Amino acid sequence: MDIRAQLSMSFHMDKCIGCHTCSVSCKNVWTTRRGAEYMWWNNVETKPGAGYPVTWEDQDRYRGGWEVSGGSLRLKLLKGPGKIRSLANIFFQPNLPTIDDYYEPFTFDYQHLFNAPAGDDQPTARARSLITGDFMEKIVLGPNWDDDMGGSPLYASNDPNLKGLSDSQKEMLTKFHKLFFFYLPRICNHCLNPACVASCPSGAIYKRGEDGIVLIDQDTCRAWRFCVSACPFKKPYYNWANGKSEKCIFCYPRTETGQANACAHACTGRIRFVGVLLYDADKIEDVAKSSDERLVEAMRDICLDPNDPKVIEGAIKAGITQDWITAAQNSPAYNLFVKWRIATPNHPEFRTVPMNFYIPPLSPILHDSKAGSGGVFDPISDEFFNDVDKMRVPLRYLANMLSAGNEQVIAESLKKQMAVRMYVRQQRVGDVGESKVKSVLSDVGLTAQDCEDIYRLTALGTFQERFVIPETHRETMTTVEPRTMYEKRGTIGFGTKKQHLVSRTW
Ligand code: SF4
Ligand code: SF4
Repeated sequence: MDIRAQLSMSFHMDKCIGCHTCSVSCKNVWTTRRGAEYMWWNNVETKPGAGYPVTWEDQDRYRGGWEVSGGSLRLKLLKGPGKIRSLANIFFQPNLPTIDDYYEPFTFDYQHLFNAPAGDDQPTARARSLITGDFMEKIVLGPNWDDDMGGSPLYASNDPNLKGLSDSQKEMLTKFHKLFFFYLPRICNHCLNPACVASCPSGAIYKRGEDGIVLIDQDTCRAWRFCVSACPFKKPYYNWANGKSEKCIFCYPRTETGQANACAHACTGRIRFVGVLLYDADKIEDVAKSSDERLVEAMRDICLDPNDPKVIEGAIKAGITQDWITAAQNSPAYNLFVKWRIATPNHPEFRTVPMNFYIPPLSPILHDSKAGSGGVFDPISDEFFNDVDKMRVPLRYLANMLSAGNEQVIAESLKKQMAVRMYVRQQRVGDVGESKVKSVLSDVGLTAQDCEDIYRLTALGTFQERFVIPETHRETMTTVEPRTMYEKRGTIGFGTKKQHLVSRTW
């Protein structure tokens, strides 16, 4: 067993209000440089919707992530296996998103509002391109364009997650006036099997041993942009002004001192949770190769129980300090993803083993003939509880986005969320029978204490409960042997013991 620690962020999608405070906080702190105008290390997109960059989830188009080929993991973007084939492709990347796939960044000519000569009309601030400096006649895209267009059929119908939905389900989600939408906040997933790291010809990208944060060494980056192509989440960005790639750094200068990431700290909906996971690095390759059906379960299996004495002993031997172990024991990430099983990873089928997790959103249940009078469900009826497949957002859609197509994983999370609501209603309002709540809790595998804890964390959680971030021990960094292959990136050869971590290509 090779025990390591990973910082992880979880998102409660039901609570995100799409205010973009997170995105603006991140932008103000990290991406105000020239060349970074179009970058949103944290972005929030409307779902259903095409996203940012457009249709980033469509790997037939972008060829990001990994595929299993002949029993081995292979980067999708490379046409064949092996270093020589990869080198042959180094100047040719047809799958890179262009600025038109992101959007042309712009500002407004605000000064004109003050300086315009007196006239008959109110002066207006015209849009000006932040790339060319020219006025823009028409703005055709933005980082959350679907929201600006209200999720209209024109844009939302391009959402790759609509695959497999019936026509009526698609209409329900995307038709103007009938549409239903929610928000997907995204940062880099700081994956365990990061395609960006494996693809970089310069060895500029690495995953830190102490906390699993994936970073780009700006001195080593040679602008090959393989990371942009290889990341299926499109989270590395190319800075056209300085010729380097950049990405979300999980606010490491903040987390190293125990502070929450800027996006999480600022989140008005209090939808974000940050914590530590302990995992077994020896199993990464097996997890990444798991069948779609088993992927989420395999990801849960790789996470270790931080209260298990054997894990604690192994973690200490591996150089993980007691405060990190204690943080792992109080980790919202462990509780939401592993213990309560209500959070799931975004697109695990990309096989990067992403380390951020999402609590899927509940949505109204569609009324039909079963609903009785007026098509209104009694919120504590059996129909209401059992008909998760009749929600406005179809299970298939959420499964396409959050569980590699496994609808059971989503149904389990939604039912647990509903069970917690029923439990709290019984406690606070008292109009649900105790025996009914008991039977519902046993159906979904939660205890009364679990419900109290889930309710406490997700509805009332304080800063300290939502963000359990231990400080980094810089004082040990010079004496502790680097724990991951990523830190030894300059000396990684092919076939080293640790190579399985990313099946490194270069
Ligand atoms: S999401 Fe994963 S693959 Fe993409 S940049 Fe982050 S660590 Fe790399
Ligand atoms: S700040 Fe929070 S609630 Fe607002 S968009 Fe970001 S994640 Fe959603």
